[in-house]
Amino acid sequence: MSDIEIAQANEANQMKPITEIAATMGLAADDLEQYGKSKAKISFEALNRLKDRPFGKLVLVTSINPTPAGEGKSTVTVGLGDALRQRGQNAIIALREPSLGPVMGMKGGATGGGYAQVVPMEDINLHFTGDMHALTSAVDTLAALIDNHLQQGNALNLDPRRILWKRALDINDRALRNTVIGLGGPLSGVPRETGFDITVASELMAVLCLAEDLADLKIRISRIVVGYTYDKQPVTVADLEVTGAITMLLRDAIKPNLVQTLEHTPAFIHGGPFANIAHGCNSVLATRTALQLGDIAITEAGFGADLGGEKFLDIKTPVLGKTPDSIVIVATARALKYNGGSALNELQTENLDALAKGFANLKRHIQNMQQYGVPVVVALNRFTSDTDAELQFLIEACAKLKVTAVTATVWADGGAGGLDLADAVLASLNEPSHFTPLMAADASAESKIATIVRKIYGGADVAYDAKALQSLKLIADNRWDHLPVCIAKTQYSLSDDAKALGAPTGFTVHVRDVIPKLGAGFLVVMTGNVLTMPGLPKHPAALDMDVDATGKISGLF
Ligand code: ADP
Repeated sequence: MSDIEIAQANEANQMKPITEIAATMGLAADDLEQYGKSKAKISFEALNRLKDRPFGKLVLVTSINPTPAGEGKSTVTVGLGDALRQRGQNAIIALREPSLGPVMGMKGGATGGGYAQVVPMEDINLHFTGDMHALTSAVDTLAALIDNHLQQGNALNLDPRRILWKRALDINDRALRNTVIGLGGPLSGVPRETGFDITVASELMAVLCLAEDLADLKIRISRIVVGYTYDKQPVTVADLEVTGAITMLLRDAIKPNLVQTLEHTPAFIHGGPFANIAHGCNSVLATRTALQLGDIAITEAGFGADLGGEKFLDIKTPVLGKTPDSIVIVATARALKYNGGSALNELQTENLDALAKGFANLKRHIQNMQQYGVPVVVALNRFTSDTDAELQFLIEACAKLKVTAVTATVWADGGAGGLDLADAVLASLNEPSHFTPLMAADASAESKIATIVRKIYGGADVAYDAKALQSLKLIADNRWDHLPVCIAKTQYSLSDDAKALGAPTGFTVHVRDVIPKLGAGFLVVMTGNVLTMPGLPKHPAALDMDVDATGKISGLF
């Protein structure tokens, strides 16, 4: 059965009212704002009441570099939550919200897979509780207000050529990457060149995910730099006097969304920045709520440990106020064979040589995460074609690095297939975790970039384009260069070249630009060819989707 067929069979028969799921966490119906029977947001009153509750333990799930073979990070996160519950633990999951762009493009759903899924999967993958709509509206309202400011006399002296703020849509639409607006004469605006980002790459998504509450959201929004004046002075949302309006549009989107897994484990699904072009972690508010209501919170960071993992540890952790107690790295034999040179159509066949070569990728990620001083566990997400010899090889290779690797069959078996993994994670939670940041918080932007390139990516050097150097100078002039850096890089390789698989060394990372995101509180570093508005592939997933006359959806994977 496909993911959606499994989810639909469950939704029809077994999904519990969301009030019952909330009750297992000690939340009353009054603490919820319900969106139908199976989805709810947590009210501000409940969030306020929880504010001083102590945190449980935190498990961060990350992975090797993704390949077309698929790794199953969300699947393992969900399965691990279910397995910990089967072991009698009060475990709560905190995941990101799917973006419609990739759902229609390459990926299909992003709600886990097989028997380790969150439901209702169609709702979560499509419009859910409207957070993406609210974000998109807020981004585009701000853009319209900026252009209106230019039109109505430009009292702030904004330079139309130096406006940073772009419009956004939650759609993969390459044709909107670069646009010219304001054509049609004086009544139709001031002509200027701009473009669209996908909503999940916009600064407002990062702001929503890092805000501690509505008051903090407002402060962060006020700080956003929308562009520069003709004499290169920054202009903020506060200068435009629209902080209140933009915050208002996000009043409900900031509240965490609650759903359930197929096995009724509570799961918060809230905030969804991509990890290649943004910081890749779900909201601080949802993770905190999971930590306050659960003894163990399991959260996931996007793509590989070089992107979402690093950003979780260096950007989210200081805001969250909690460091992980255990890090789970998801890997598959298939993806490692691909990293070791096997072709996509050969991954069904045992190949220990390719596996041994491709192991270099997992090894690098293990060593990278170990640098932070947190215990690491490897989850081997088993596909039916994996052989025992392949999995045994990986378990032994990890043991040589003093890391426990455990096979998980949560995709096929749900929580029951993750019990060994749950036991390994529980054991790791008893080990000491001595979190050590990778770099000093007050180091310069260039020094932080160099540290990540050398210590995480395994590269030798960083080369800056002229534009990046100009931006860095502006950043230094404004005294922003102590901020954390959020590197936008291809997810497919540890380097900035998507084709360099395995564990490349000696390479130079190319920085095209550095963009200040004062609301999020970090500097986005654009490397290689990475783009903030994706395109659709030759055969978009949309071609296989349908809805019948009864409203039943098919093809969401
Ligand atoms: P990620 O979070 O790494 O992007 P997902 O958990 O979303 O990956 O899984 C991607 C796809 O791979 C889903 O359609 C899921 O059903 C499938 N998948 C995951 N694990 C397995 C497995 N062990 N066997 C078969 N398919 C799997």
